[in-house]
Amino acid sequence: DRALLDSGVAAARLAELAQPALRRGELQFIGDDLFGYGDEPLMIVPVLSAGEVVGVVGLAGRSGGYGAQLDELLQPLFATIGNVIGALQADRHRRATEAALRLYANVFKSSHTGIVITNADRRIIEVNGAFTNLTGYTRDEALGQSAVRVAAGRQSDLEYREMWRKVETEGYWRGEIWDRGKNGELFAELLTVSSVRDSEGRVVNYIGQFTDITQLKRHQQRLEQLAHFDALTQLPNRVLLADRLQQMMAAAHQEQRMLAVCYMDLDGFKSINDALGHQSGDRLLVAVGERLRSNLRDSDTLARLGGDEFVMLLGGLESVDEVQGLLERQLKLIAEPYTIEGAPAARISASIGVAVYPIDDVDADSLLRHADQAMYAAKQAGRNCYQLFDAELDRIARRSSEVRARAELALENGEFRLYYQPQVDLRSGEVVGVEALIRWLRPDGQLMPPAEFLPMIEATDFAIRLGDWVIGEALRQVDAWTAQGLRTSVSVNLSARHLQQPDFADRVRAALQRHPAVHPAQLELEVIETAALEDLYRASMSMNDCRRLGVSFAIDDFGTGYSSLAYLKSLPAETLKIDQSFIRDMLSDSDDLAIVRGVIGLAAAFRRRVVAEGVETAEHGRRLLELGCHLAQGFGIARAMPAAELPDWVRAYQADPLLPPRPTIEDHGYQRVAAGH
Ligand code: C2E
Ligand code: CA
Ligand code: CA
Repeated sequence: DRALLDSGVAAARLAELAQPALRRGELQFIGDDLFGYGDEPLMIVPVLSAGEVVGVVGLAGRSGGYGAQLDELLQPLFATIGNVIGALQADRHRRATEAALRLYANVFKSSHTGIVITNADRRIIEVNGAFTNLTGYTRDEALGQSAVRVAAGRQSDLEYREMWRKVETEGYWRGEIWDRGKNGELFAELLTVSSVRDSEGRVVNYIGQFTDITQLKRHQQRLEQLAHFDALTQLPNRVLLADRLQQMMAAAHQEQRMLAVCYMDLDGFKSINDALGHQSGDRLLVAVGERLRSNLRDSDTLARLGGDEFVMLLGGLESVDEVQGLLERQLKLIAEPYTIEGAPAARISASIGVAVYPIDDVDADSLLRHADQAMYAAKQAGRNCYQLFDAELDRIARRSSEVRARAELALENGEFRLYYQPQVDLRSGEVVGVEALIRWLRPDGQLMPPAEFLPMIEATDFAIRLGDWVIGEALRQVDAWTAQGLRTSVSVNLSARHLQQPDFADRVRAALQRHPAVHPAQLELEVIETAALEDLYRASMSMNDCRRLGVSFAIDDFGTGYSSLAYLKSLPAETLKIDQSFIRDMLSDSDDLAIVRGVIGLAAAFRRRVVAEGVETAEHGRRLLELGCHLAQGFGIARAMPAAELPDWVRAYQADPLLPPRPTIEDHGYQRVAAGH
């Protein structure tokens, strides 16, 4: 009905009938234009599905009213249209799905990433070509297998369980693993495992994707190897050693165990290397490394520092004895002959130095250095042995070198002083001489006793320079006292090294010549018995030369050395000084008294003067007089004092010689701040 149609009623009715399809989104009308075609009214409606025109619905009707039949007419029509559209859509959907599946399949097939799909039980239900290429297993071999085979590589159970735990809790895991291919070869892969869940959250699949990173890994390993391992022996190098040392120190600390750092150097490797040629030398080093390694636990480290130097780190020790046992075995093993291709059988030994942490409680660098130092000690001890680092000795050595360096400066800066301790004749009250005793007056005013610096410089040439200074200074002082009207002789202590200088006597002569007012007999040189014996020939040569100059000698600390009659005879000394340790205890200790008595007797027999040192009380003095020794020196008479105080002291003493020591003289101890003297 044109009029009807014109009025749009038909369109409205159409729209109404089409509602369900429209609601389902299957159908959409755009516009309600009606076109006339001849006599027939025609309605053409484009139909959209998912935003696309999927067809056109055309309606044609006769002129004339349809009236109530319209519904009946249109209903089947729309049902048909709905079916057509449904079929159309299903077809489109199928085509789209097929295209997508083709795409996915292509991606799956041509991917270079190996892909494994499993069911919820982790059984493989699909793999791709890359999987086969990478693992060597065909699809048929893989299907139905358990995906557990990814653990067949190098993973520990723990790592494996941890991987699945993450997949279950977080939906995926990613990491590098070592896997084993069908041919048994290990390869490194970067693996991602993810779970696929259904709408209820149940796992339906697992997907594993992996790429071969073996090349990358090998490259990385090679770099690591180069950076951390010695190219010749494949042992850890210095860099890795430093790393391991840190770790093992931390472990030792935590476990309350000890860690031994053993520094090893082959004995005479250079000459073997020269004799065998470098190639054989290299093989020898490799063999040594292998032998050492064979004796160690996996937790220990053996490193090569280069050349013929190796370091062993032995951890978890409960006692130092454990190290000693092991090192003895290592030394034995190394000393076995080596058969090296193309070379005669070679033998070599090693010297090992050991620092034990935390007995030696220092940092890693110092531990290595200490082990190295101990290794040198082992070399000095005759090689083919080991030596433990002595932390206490090292501390002393360190302090010594510090003192040595400062003492040299101190001499230039005039920080050394001579103090003088009188020697008296207890019978006559006469002051027979003074002993010059050195002190170091530090810039801070502290007076340092000789025991704190002399032993540290004894073995150096500086000891000779300092000795020369003492002789010169003592003579200058005697010269000065003479000018003040105080005539005395001076005793100077000599170091062994000084005395043994071939030109020692010349040095003394030169010093005397600088002070013509001083008579050579006013100079006495004190030599410690043991010092003279070190090189008896040299010492007695020097002593005889000096005696010809008119200088006399005393043997110091007599009784503490060999004190043999034979030596006593060959040492041209006029005086024996009984060591103060015997004097100190002679009143209470009968052995000491016997020694004192013996020395006095010996001196009488050999016609030597005898001086008792360390006379601390008047009682000592009385007893010595009884025993026949009347020359004495000690705190009971006077302490060593600055030169300027001596003239007054001498005057006072002569006025009242047998009085007990005066308090004024008592306090010249070392702590005294002696600035100005
Ligand atoms: P020494 O030659 O045996 O000197 C005697 C030491 O005993 C001095 O110590 C002196 O102060 C101390 N003494 C003296 N009387 C007594 C006493 O009654 N009781 C006690 N307990 N001690 C007493 P000092 O000055 O500390 O010298 C120590 C050592 O250093 C000297 O022993 C000597 O071996 C050495 N020495 C001192 N000056 C020199 C020097 O210029 N050159 C060399 N090479 N060695 C020196
Ligand atoms: Ca002395
Ligand atoms: Ca002495």
